[in-house]
Amino acid sequence: MKTKVIDVGGVKIGGGNPIVIQSMTNTLTSDVDKTIAQIHRLEEAGCEIIRVGVPDKASVNALEEIKKNISIPLVADIHFDHRLAVSAARYVDKLRINPGNIGGEDKVKEVVKAAKDYSIPIRVGVNLGSMEKDIEARFGLSAKGLVESALKNVKLLEDNDFYDIAVSLKASDVMKTIEAYRMISKLTEYPLHVGVTESGSLFTGTIKSSIGIGALLADGIGDTIRVSLSDDPVEEIKVGKAILQSLGLRRFGIMVTACPTCARAGYDVSSIAKEIEERTFNSKKPLSIAVMGCGVNGPGEAKEADIGVVGGKGGCLLYRKGEVVCRVDKEKVVDRIMEEVEDGE
Ligand code: SF4
Repeated sequence: MKTKVIDVGGVKIGGGNPIVIQSMTNTLTSDVDKTIAQIHRLEEAGCEIIRVGVPDKASVNALEEIKKNISIPLVADIHFDHRLAVSAARYVDKLRINPGNIGGEDKVKEVVKAAKDYSIPIRVGVNLGSMEKDIEARFGLSAKGLVESALKNVKLLEDNDFYDIAVSLKASDVMKTIEAYRMISKLTEYPLHVGVTESGSLFTGTIKSSIGIGALLADGIGDTIRVSLSDDPVEEIKVGKAILQSLGLRRFGIMVTACPTCARAGYDVSSIAKEIEERTFNSKKPLSIAVMGCGVNGPGEAKEADIGVVGGKGGCLLYRKGEVVCRVDKEKVVDRIMEEVEDGE
């Protein structure tokens, strides 16, 4: 779905621009050194916009120093106290608020004025866990309720002549999240920030986020994503990149496919694939590598990839751009593939 474009500190979101990966720090924002260090790790991993929680004045006071020391756009996440949003606006590239809990229409007006003064967008972020009571009473904790809440809050901003908006409506329930975004994508042109909130630990959260975000992106819904994990936020970036890469929406470097192996495997596919992933982790080359156990499905997959290797009784066959290059001993497969990667474009 074609959405409007907003500009977050030079990063364009919406309107068919590449889908942007975001994360959120889990340090105390007032701990400037730790927060900057974590953002640097996130930048290195590929984070494109970073959000920090701003629950108090000490956090607002930290924003200027944080902003000075990072190179990706900074978003302030604020609830309940509109004064924090008003004070934060001068230091950040976007505000995330839930207008419904910021204290009433006059307070929203003040936040909008600050966003206008500093020419920054606002994300209307509604969550099932903090839905307005009147909406909950009418619609229950449902996808429809999320949509109603988001539209109501968007209207609060529009009533103040503010249209520089992104929208998110998240639930920890994957199906409710998908349903809500599908509904709202037909009702608004504002760019959508997509994610499954509080999705859980690295394992559970990766699965829930991949299904929820993946299903929406496959429908063409979503302009920016945040994978939400109870773990090191760097993991959120890895998962986000993998989701986008799996759907063919972005390429971040080397993508390794490998067969699950079975009794026919001519070598240890798993350890070879893992070693290649580790050795190519920081490579920015947009190459696909297929590690296949035998000649059943191997040649087809290896030909599809930029570089492929297929196990067999008399050694492994190495493919490059669909053609067999040579036969390789299985002990030398990883090194030989790395040579191809070095030569690859
Ligand atoms: S490619 Fe060969 S080894 Fe791998 S799963 Fe398929 S049949 Fe088994």
